[in-house]
Parts: sequence; C-alpha cells; structure tokens
Amino acid sequence: MSYRDVFGEILADHHESPRNWGLITDPTRTENGFNPLCGDKITLTLKLKDGSSDETLEKCTFEGEGCSICMASASIMTEMVQGKHYSEILKLIEAFREKMQGVEAVEGLPSDDAAEDIVALYGIKRFPVRIKCALLPWTTLKKGMGAAHAG
Ligand code: ZN
Repeated sequence: MSYRDVFGEILADHHESPRNWGLITDPTRTENGFNPLCGDKITLTLKLKDGSSDETLEKCTFEGEGCSICMASASIMTEMVQGKHYSEILKLIEAFREKMQGVEAVEGLPSDDAAEDIVALYGIKRFPVRIKCALLPWTTLKKGMGAAHAG
C-alpha cells in the first residue's frame, strides 16, 4: 500500500509540498526538537510581532529531517498558528496533544477551514508508535514559545 492509501490525501499532500518550509533569517527564536524513537529532527524559527506587550506569533517556519508523519504534522501546524496570539496557540497545542493521547471530548480545536487538515492528523492515533512523530512539531513550538515568552 502506498503512503496515500494508508494516511490519506491530505497528509500525503503536506508531506510532498510542505507549507512554511525554510528558516527565517532573523528569527526571534529558534527551537530544535528531536524524537529518538523515530529519528525525527525539526528546527522551528519563530518571529514574534514587534512590541513588548504584543504576544502574537507573526511567522513560524520549519525545516527538518524526519518521517513523513512528522513533516506533514509540522506543515499543518505552521499553517494553523500564523498570526495567532500566544494564548490561543498554547491552547491549541494542548488540545491537540490531548486528542492524540486519546481524550475524546477536547475543547479548543478548530472547526474552520483548517479543521480538515488537523482532523487528518488524528488518524495517526491508529499507529501508537507514530504519535510522537505527529506531536514533535507541536511540543517543539511550545518549548520555543515558552522560552521566547520568558525573555
Ligand atoms: Zn517519525
């Protein structure tokens, strides 16, 4: 079976044409993530909106070397967080993590146009060893934002 058959068109498309690929040259913050179980490596660059009181993630891009699930998840995540407020992003990350860990009723997940992509990621739950692959970009972003937030 092909990757498309197993994981579906949406994840295959994000894997083949990752969105927001490439690193920002003058990022506010760079954060690396590593998943030793699979060997996934990811680098996120974050650009925060200028102004100390504004906590908006203006831009988030990535590069990495990892399995198709990790890369597709990063592509979907970076699309969802552009221009969003920190508090909103942290809620989203937490909701996604709960959902992937099997919590059924999770609040705070999107129901707009982006929902289709994130719903495709929930399917990864069928492959428990790959859940960490799907989560890596999200936990890395959380780490990066926490650090940026602290100063
Ligand atoms: Zn992986």
